[in-house]
Amino acid sequence: MLIVVFYVCVFFIGLSFGSFLNCLIYRLAKKQSLSGRSFCPHCKKQIAWYDNIPLISFVLLKGKCRHCQQKISWQYPLIELLMGTLFVLPLVGFFRSDVNFLVLGQKGFVLDILKILRTWSVYFILTFIFVYDLKYMMIEDSVLLSGAGLVLLLNLFAEPLANHLIDLSFWARSVQIFWTTLIGVGFFAVQYLLTKGKGIGLGDLRIGFFMAVALGHWSMICLALVISYFIGALVSLFLIVFKKKGLKSEIPLGPFLALGTFFVFIFGQEIINIIIRT
Ligand SMILES: [Zn+2]
Repeated sequence: MLIVVFYVCVFFIGLSFGSFLNCLIYRLAKKQSLSGRSFCPHCKKQIAWYDNIPLISFVLLKGKCRHCQQKISWQYPLIELLMGTLFVLPLVGFFRSDVNFLVLGQKGFVLDILKILRTWSVYFILTFIFVYDLKYMMIEDSVLLSGAGLVLLLNLFAEPLANHLIDLSFWARSVQIFWTTLIGVGFFAVQYLLTKGKGIGLGDLRIGFFMAVALGHWSMICLALVISYFIGALVSLFLIVFKKKGLKSEIPLGPFLALGTFFVFIFGQEIINIIIRT
């Protein structure tokens, strides 16, 4: 019973981070200050605390502003729900690479906490990249680079994502992250230079940097790049075939990179094990 209460609490922490992420996306895009109370984007009336409870208020208000009755975007409850779920899943050991709180303490409490913080931070930043690049076709460095710094620190001190790095020393792991970063940034830098900045933006270079520090091993980032480009090609083909986009229209790369990184962050080790065995 106690464990259920614990998971519900974590779910609400996740919801709050989802709510914060929504606010971050909106205010950064509108170049507004992050402090100050929330207000309705239509009627500009301040939102009372009881109308600002993640997910619950959206349901109670039936998705409309209390004052002007304008519809609230589905993005708000969706991101909140996503973050709530993504915060709980690693704790129940849903993914093999994650920590199961029921067996916590076997390898050291602090290491496990660091691992969970890394997982949450990576999910938070990837969701930010996905939504922000999809909506505004750009990336916000203040979030991306501070997120990369935090994840880099956590990755240096927590247990590495790739199993075969666990026994390596701190310095050996730092060197590994350095090479991974070189691949992550270099991959986009070469394309940037070749296309003279037309195909790839500088924002993609910075996303490459984040991917590298999040994944921490050359095999993982190579896999993430392959999967991202594969998803991107499939989606672009679909959009062109169904005439949603023309051949020349720009499709942001960030959402695909976020999806690929997310996938490899969870399943990368399993995929690499399969590749090694065959
Ligand atoms: Zn309103």
